Amino acid sequence: MDKVLLEQYILDSKKIAIIVEKNLFLDGKIERLFLPNNRPHINEYRKSKEIRESYQKFMKENLLSEYPFEINSIYKKILKLDENPLVQGIINLNIDGILKKNNAKNVIDLEGNINWLYCSNCGSESSMESFVLNQDEIICKNCNDNSLKVNIPFNGQEPSQWDFKDSWMLMNSCDCLIILTADFISPITFSFIDMVTKKHNKVIFSGNLIDFRQGNTPAFFSDSHFISSIDDFLDIILELINNRYS
Ligand SMILES: [Zn+2]
Repeated sequence: MDKVLLEQYILDSKKIAIIVEKNLFLDGKIERLFLPNNRPHINEYRKSKEIRESYQKFMKENLLSEYPFEINSIYKKILKLDENPLVQGIINLNIDGILKKNNAKNVIDLEGNINWLYCSNCGSESSMESFVLNQDEIICKNCNDNSLKVNIPFNGQEPSQWDFKDSWMLMNSCDCLIILTADFISPITFSFIDMVTKKHNKVIFSGNLIDFRQGNTPAFFSDSHFISSIDDFLDIILELINNRYS
C-alpha cells in the first residue's frame, strides 16, 4: 500500500476503529510476564493463601524495576487519536493499562489491565503501582486480607463480555479499521478483520514486519499493509485526520 492509497482510505472514512496489537510497550516484556499459561487458576487462587502470596510476590518482584511506567511515544500518539472525533474507538490488546491511566476515553482494554487490583474479599481497589512500590505488604489495606487480584482474567475466568460486545459494535459501525502491529496479529484480531471485511470496509495494517504464523495471511494484505514504523505511521495518520478538523 502506498501513501496515496493510505491518504485516500483515511480521507474517505467517517468512522475509524483502531486495534492496538500486543507488545507495543517495552517490546512485550509485560505481556510475557503475564502470559495466560503463567496465570493461576481462579479457583486455586481463591482457595489457597499460599498461591495468592506466591503470585503477588511474583508480580512485585518482576514489576518493581518497571514502575512507574513511562508512557512511550506510540502511546502518546494513540492518546491524541483517542481525542479525534473521527476515531470511534480503540481496542487495546496490551495489558499494561497505560492508555486508560492517561485518561483515554474510547479505549477498550479487551485483555485486561494490570494497573489495578481489587480485593475479592471487600471489593476495594489498589493501584498496581502502589502495590508494587510497597514491597513489604501484600494485604488489602481495607480488610487486612490477602485477597487482592490483578484485573486480568485468570485461568478459568472469561474476559469481560461487555468489552467483547462493545468491540463487536465498534467493528460493525466502523468504515475503516486500522491495526497497529509490532510483529504479529493475534487470533482475536483476525476475527475482527473478518467482521470488517465481510462488510467490504477498509483495513489498514501498519508495522515493518508482520509474522502470520498464528493465522493465514489475509488475501487483501498487500493492498492494506503500509510498511513503516508505527511511530511514523501514527504521525501520518494524525496529520491526515487533524487536517480534516482544522
Ligand atoms: Zn479487602
